[in-house]
Amino acid sequence: MDVSAAVRVLTGSRRILVFTGAGISVESGIPDFRGPDGLWSIVDPSVFWIDRYLSDAEARRQVWKVHAERGLSFDQVGPNPAHLAIVDLWKAHRMSGCVTQNIDGLHQAAGLPDEAVAELHGNLRRVRCLSCGAVLRLETVLERVRSGDTDPHCEACGGILKADTVLFGEVLPPVQIARAQQMADAADAVLAVGSTLSVYPAADYALEPVRRGAPLVIANLGPTDQDRWATVRLEGRAGEIVPALVEALLSERP
Ligand code: NAD
Repeated sequence: MDVSAAVRVLTGSRRILVFTGAGISVESGIPDFRGPDGLWSIVDPSVFWIDRYLSDAEARRQVWKVHAERGLSFDQVGPNPAHLAIVDLWKAHRMSGCVTQNIDGLHQAAGLPDEAVAELHGNLRRVRCLSCGAVLRLETVLERVRSGDTDPHCEACGGILKADTVLFGEVLPPVQIARAQQMADAADAVLAVGSTLSVYPAADYALEPVRRGAPLVIANLGPTDQDRWATVRLEGRAGEIVPALVEALLSERP
């Protein structure tokens, strides 16, 4: 794996914004959305609109069925070498932070502290009651779904339950947006991993520093929507590229 061009680009950077998408977690066993095995090949995306979810019990049943049958089994998925290498980069004080589109919590499972991660699309490990705000573990709710409660409601107040992830038509979580903005403002380079960079506004956090002149390294399997902005493009699997890149970068003399 030749990462030397990317090392040259990032060698002087001390505040790299690492931007990650579904592709970084594919080697952990979580399929992306747009691939042949992806979610959109088996379920109608319209049930993932917030208006449908709130008004249509059948849409909620379909969403819970997807979570129960296709959702992440957190006992079985863990961080892969790409997630772990990003922790090394953070510990070497070379990052402004990690902005992720992912909802799997694998950056924190790898060892990044919460404040180093902006989860723009929420986290699937939690479920929230939309009426009283109670927070539950996903697994607890999925046990109810699997036992036949196909549209589970809050046991305390009867409100609608929803995984703590952002559906189409919802605003992004304000705390996470503020964190992502700080990371983008501070960044002196961007490393985008495993994302088509096609989902907005998330992709804007990766592109903002680039518009100011910061270099952009894209590590992805396949093309992205922003390849024309890349200073260097690394084609291949995140689990191979990112560890090789971080190791080479951290072995450079200051
Ligand atoms: P995407 O599905 O649009 O793109 C993923 C990209 O990663 C693709 O270009 C794919 O070819 C590439 N890829 C696949 N395997 C790879 C690998 N091993 N190494 C490097 N690249 C690889 O994903 P996106 O841009 O993140 O947008 C999809 C949306 O779906 C996001 O908003 C995200 O919230 C959500 N999502 C999250 C997860 C997760 O949390 N793990 C999984 C699926 C989808």
